[in-house]
Parts: sequence; C-alpha cells; structure tokens
Amino acid sequence: MDFREIRTIEDLEKIYPKHILEKFPISGRGIFEGTKDEDWYDWKWQLKNRITTLPMLKKAINVTGNEEKAYDACSKKFKMAITPYYSALMDRDDPECPIRKQSVPNVAEMNILKTDMADPLAEERDMPVPGLTHRYPDRVLFYASNDCPMLCRHCTRKRKVANESADAKDKQIEAGLDYIRKTKRVRDVVVSGGDPLCLNNDKIDYILGELRKIEHVEVVRLGTRNPCTLPIRLRDDKLLEILEKHQPIHVNTHYNHPKECTREALLANTRLSLAGCTVGNQTVLLRNVNDNANIMLKLNHLLLLMKVRPYYIFQCDLSEGISHFRTKVSVGLEILEKMRGWTSGLAIPYYVVDSPGGGGKIPLTPNYVVSHDGNKLVLRNYKNVEFTYHEPIN
Ligand code: SF4
Repeated sequence: MDFREIRTIEDLEKIYPKHILEKFPISGRGIFEGTKDEDWYDWKWQLKNRITTLPMLKKAINVTGNEEKAYDACSKKFKMAITPYYSALMDRDDPECPIRKQSVPNVAEMNILKTDMADPLAEERDMPVPGLTHRYPDRVLFYASNDCPMLCRHCTRKRKVANESADAKDKQIEAGLDYIRKTKRVRDVVVSGGDPLCLNNDKIDYILGELRKIEHVEVVRLGTRNPCTLPIRLRDDKLLEILEKHQPIHVNTHYNHPKECTREALLANTRLSLAGCTVGNQTVLLRNVNDNANIMLKLNHLLLLMKVRPYYIFQCDLSEGISHFRTKVSVGLEILEKMRGWTSGLAIPYYVVDSPGGGGKIPLTPNYVVSHDGNKLVLRNYKNVEFTYHEPIN
C-alpha cells in the first residue's frame, strides 16, 4: 500500500480491523469546533492558531488560580504555545489532565533548584560549530529548527526552544552541513531541534538531500514531536514524498500518555511507515503524568499498534524549572519491573538517565542477578522465581 491511498482517518479502515481502530478515539476540535476542514487539516493554520495567550486559554479550559498565576509568572521565561489539535485533547475541568500538565504553565516552574542547569546535557559545550553537537564518535545532533508546534512544559531544551535569538539560521545550517561533510567519522545524523518538521518542505528536502549526498553518512534520523502534538503535519503528501525520496529515514517521536494516541496519530504514524520510515518513541518519565506501570503499559501497547517501537523512557533531566515533573529513579525501575515478563519485549523501552554534564545515556535495569559465585549464577525471573545457570569454567 502507498501513503497516497491513506489520506484520511476513514482510509485507515482499508488497513486495520474495527477492533484495532476503536482503540484510537477520534479527537474533537474543542474550542475550534466549526473550523472548516481545509483549515483544520492545514498544518500552517494549526501553527498560526496556537493557543498562546491567557484569554485564549480561558476559552479552552477552566483555568485554575495556579494556572493563571503561572501564566503571568512563567510565560515570559518559557512561552506557552498549544496547537488547536492538542488543545482539544485537554480536559476542560481537570487540572490533573496529563495533556494539560504538559501544555499549561505551572507555578512550580519558577522553582529553580540549586542542582538545576540551563543545559544539563552540556549540548552547547560539545559544539564544534554552532547548532551541532558532536559527542559520540560516529554520530551528531544537528539542530535544524528551534521552533516546535507545542511548547512542552517539561522540555529539556527550554534554553533555546522558541527563542528567536537562538533560532537555527541558514548560515548555521550550512555550517553544520559543512562540518558533517568534512568529518568522515560521522555515520549517523540526528536532525532535531526544536522540531525539524516546523521547517517548510523545501528546507527539509534540502537538508535531507544534502545529507544523502554525503557518502559517509549512513543513518539519518529525524527527532520530531509532530506525530503527537501536530499529527496533521503528516497529512501533507509533499512532506511524505520528501521522506520517501531520502530513505532510509528513522523517525523518533515523543508520546508520553495513552491519551495522545488518537485516530489522527494513528494516521500520521501509518503514513510515516508507508513512506518507508521506521518510527521509534522516546517517553519522558513525568510525575503525575505517566509515572505508573499501567499507564506505561497501555501507552507502549498502543504505540506498537501504531507500529511505533518504544525506544527510551528518559529519566527527567535536571533542566531548570521542571523539578516538579521529576520522579525518583526507583519509580522508573519499578515500572520496568512491572513490565518485563508481563508483556512482550517489543513493548519495553530502555530506561535511561542522560547523564548530567554530558556523559551520555546510561541504561538502568532492575537487578535480576541474585548471586554470582564462581561459575554458578543464580538469576531471578519476573515472578521472582530463582534459576541457576552454570557458566563455562574456562
Ligand atoms: S517537542 Fe521536544 S523540543 Fe519541542 S518543546 Fe516539546 S520537548 Fe521541547
């Protein structure tokens, strides 16, 4: 099947049985009810009509005192922007809604801890040219845009996302491409930001085309939250043609909660797969959003149905103003313990801490080794039943 045959959520019936489709609710339009289809399904209209002001927010939800205070206090430091699509997923009355927590400022953002950092992963330090982080031997992180459809309150790159002065200019993109051309050990390029799908199609085509001309570049990855916060972007045939043209492309996206797995999201991920992309997901472990094994299990099962492979659960970084989202590491380990063995390995992402100061990702896993004595290894399984394994003596 071709992505050109699957353009609407109705077309999904050509691929998926009814009981699968029913797991993905059809989202409404919230306060944008009555918007013409030609506008609603236009990603540029979605960007132009983002909820960015308190009066607009008040139309979408019953804003609490905390949220109102937080808007005044926080939005200068980190703006608010919620796409019409994503805003329609928010619960009007429940401030505990997981979509609302990711979108609406909270006064806790003003609480900067001594251990918080503006750039916890030291991405700026490891930049040989502005806008490109080269830390690992064979791969680079290439910032193509500093804008995102939705500004996530838990963002680890608050220091630059939506900051016009830090925006990726043409000159910066050229410098990044030049560095990659000259640096033969770069085999893998993560095109990220911000969100590179905020760029116009010609620019995306140009960047991917230039990368594909470089013979030592094998893997091209796109880091984008569009499939979650603006899946309508993937209705654009022109974009899909570009992605199809520059294969192989691996897309990494960012879903945090089952509520984000809508029929529109299913359409977006289906079209990405049909255009030849693999899609993986990076979840951030967020207190009172998804710090619970049942939520994580449900999310990862829905992701697999959308052919999105759960890839990472990130321990929340030490970025400034997001400490209220952080859980203890033991919470992440407990979630993994409750998933491993109880569901297929396909649904289990790596749980990682991106080490503060730029040491890279460190995987964490519950300990399944009970004892190790000489060549005798006692292991426990997911039900805590012990088994002995004898290693070779030499
Ligand atoms: S999409 Fe990613 S980079 Fe953009 S605001 Fe959200 S977390 Fe930050």
